[in-house]
This record gives sequence, C-alpha cells and structure tokens, in this order.
Amino acid sequence: MSKFPAVILHPHKAEAVKRFHPWIFSGAIQRKDNNVTDGALVEVLDGRGQFLALGYYSSGSIAVRVLSFTPVDSMEQLWLDKIQSAWTLRKNIGITDNVATNVYRLVNAEGDGVPGLVIDYYAGTCVFQAHSLFIHSQRQLITEALKKVLGKALKAVYDKSEAVLERKQKADVTGSYLYGEKTSNEVLEYGHKFLVDWEGGQKTGFFIDQRENRQLLSHYVKGKRVLNTFSYTGGFSVYAAKAGATLVHSVDSSVKAVELAVQNIALNNIPDGVHQAAAEDVFEFMKRSPDHYYDVIVLDPPAFAKNQHSRHQAVQAYKRLNKAAFDKIKPGGIVFTFSCSQAVGPELFDGAVAAGAIESSRNIRIIDHLNQPADHPQSIFHPEGLYLKGLVLSVE
Ligand code: SAH
Repeated sequence: MSKFPAVILHPHKAEAVKRFHPWIFSGAIQRKDNNVTDGALVEVLDGRGQFLALGYYSSGSIAVRVLSFTPVDSMEQLWLDKIQSAWTLRKNIGITDNVATNVYRLVNAEGDGVPGLVIDYYAGTCVFQAHSLFIHSQRQLITEALKKVLGKALKAVYDKSEAVLERKQKADVTGSYLYGEKTSNEVLEYGHKFLVDWEGGQKTGFFIDQRENRQLLSHYVKGKRVLNTFSYTGGFSVYAAKAGATLVHSVDSSVKAVELAVQNIALNNIPDGVHQAAAEDVFEFMKRSPDHYYDVIVLDPPAFAKNQHSRHQAVQAYKRLNKAAFDKIKPGGIVFTFSCSQAVGPELFDGAVAAGAIESSRNIRIIDHLNQPADHPQSIFHPEGLYLKGLVLSVE
C-alpha cells in the first residue's frame, strides 16, 4: 500500500501528466481518497491505478502541483536532488562562481520542477520564498539540502514567505532566519553594487530577472537622458548612470524603494547631478514631464494582470503606459518596455504595445525581443512559465 493518499484522474486526463505538465486541474480528478486535504502530499494515479506523479494538493482550480513524475521514497532525497539539479544548471551557466555577479535565482518554481518554491541567492544568503503551505512545511529539509549542496557558499537562509502566504492562505508565518544570521546585504551584479533589503523589500528583495536586460540597456545610454519608470531600487538607473548617461530620472511610488535607489547610486560613484529620483505615480509624472526630452525610456511596471480575469484591464493599462512613453520620447529615441504578468502572454503584450503605437502615430520599430534570463528557466512542457517579456523599440 502506498504511503500517500491517492488522487485518481479521469481516463483521458492522464495525457497531460504524461507530457510532464506540472499542474493538474480539479476537473481532471475522477475521485480521491478521503484523507486528501489542503497541502497533503498525494500520489496521482490513472484509472487503472498506475502511478503518474507525486505532488501536493490544494483546493483551488489547480488541484495538484507535481513534484515528481517518478515514485519518491524519501522527501529528504527529493529535496537534495532538486537543489543539486538547480545548482548544477546555475553552475553550467557560469553564475555560481563569478567575480562580477554574486546574485542569482537558484530555484525558479516550475522551471526547476518545484511549483511554489523560489530561492534567490544574495552573496551568501539564500532567500527562501514558499508560495504554498506545503512548500513552507518543507523548509527545514530544503535548508538542509541547501547546506549540503552549497557548502561554504551558504552563510544564511532567510524565510521571506510571510507576504505571499498571508495573502494567499491567511497563514501565520513570520520572516525569520532558518539558518545563520543577517550578513552584509551588498551584492554585485555585472560589477554594479546594490544594497538588497530582503527582509523588508518587495518580492525577495531585488528583481534579479532583469539582469541581462539592465546590461543591454548599458549599450544604449551613453550621452543620453534616461527616464527609468517603476524604478524600484534603481536597477536600470545604476546601469544607465554607470554607462555614461548624462541624466537619469528614477520614478517609483514607493518612498522606501526610492531611498534605496538613491543609496545604490551613491554606492556606485556616480557623478553628482546625474541622477534624480521622484517618489511619484508614473502616470502622473509622465503627464507633467516635458515632451521630446528623454532619449531612452524604461517601462517596467508591476504585473498589471494578477490572474486571467484581469487580463483585459491589464492590456488597456499596458497600451496607455506605452502610448504615454511614445508621446513623450524624443524622435530617434529608444523605449525598453516590459510585462511580468504571467497571464498576459507574449502575443497579447506585443498587441497591447502595438495598440499604443497606433494611437501615438509615431513610426516605431522593434529592434529586440527580451525575456527572463537563464537562471529563471522555464519547463518546455509548461508554457505558463514564461512570464517576463520585453521589447526594445526605436521611435522615430
Ligand atoms: N525595474 C525594477 C523593478 C520594478 S518592480 C528593477 O529593475 O529593479 C515594479 C515597481 O513599480 C515597484 O517598485 C512598485 O513600487 C512600483 N509601482 C507600482 N505601481 C506604480 C505606479 N503607479 N507609479 C510608480 N511606481 C509604481
């Protein structure tokens, strides 16, 4: 007899699991054992009782999130294998032992075969973020696996699950160190210094997923005036200022983020007067900013669509934001525009940007397509895992 309660699928619903899609929707379930409760580990079986997957159950529309497509004997071993495989990928892309960059995503949820788990590495501290109570319940085993795999490269593990779990599951979880203690929060990314507030900042503290896009921006800004909207702690701003922009404006509604952006600029020895920051709503700032003033504008808003239902509204917001940038930018200027809404796919996003372009009556060309970097992998069987999309546009 199996040690896990069973979830049995309708006959024709086993196919998606056999194709390694990590989500099983509630409609695919024919019946389940009585002891299948929220957060329980379950075995997924086909109608003939054949094993399909091991996963954890939730009562929402995604009923099971798959952790393994082969039987599992020990959770300790499962976590060791998962962390080892995630770390090996990062090692292979050259980011685990890199003099210029010591911040990267170590575990990217479904992209690393672990729905609901994000782990970001900040110069020795792993910030652990569980998006479900089940994953949170595994935090000690996961910490042990991190210690084994990372060895001396691991100084501390901080649990940053509070905000997500409270919102999603009304859990009583507080931020705390699962291993080690608070160490220096200064990190390096392509040689740029950043202070990261993983205890109090947004997400795990820093938007690591924009690393390659920030580096790309460096090539476009020498001698230019740059507007960085939704600037958070100044990621794109530091790169622009270091790469020789004559003026960089950072705009973000969060006072705390703007203060950290100012500190990050100071940390990178940027000449006085190059950077100015405003804690303000981006749409209001754009309205009152002069026409044809900026050469380069970065648009990196928060996820406008939190789910499928808010997709339409999100598309309208992307259109409005992009139109505002096209109206403002100097002829011959460059716009970096992004969407991190998982619910808005690349085609829908490109369409929203094109709709903004039509309304602005400017001649606009796409000169680059951008995505999330290699340390944010996406399972080829899980198209939903591609969440960060961007375009570089030349605006005549
Ligand atoms: N580009 C950043 C990440 C942006 S995250 C980086 O590379 O680090 C999105 C940011 O948008 C958050 O900092 C949030 O505070 C800010 N924000 C959300 N709505 C806003 C609004 N209407 N006006 C200004 N900032 C906003």
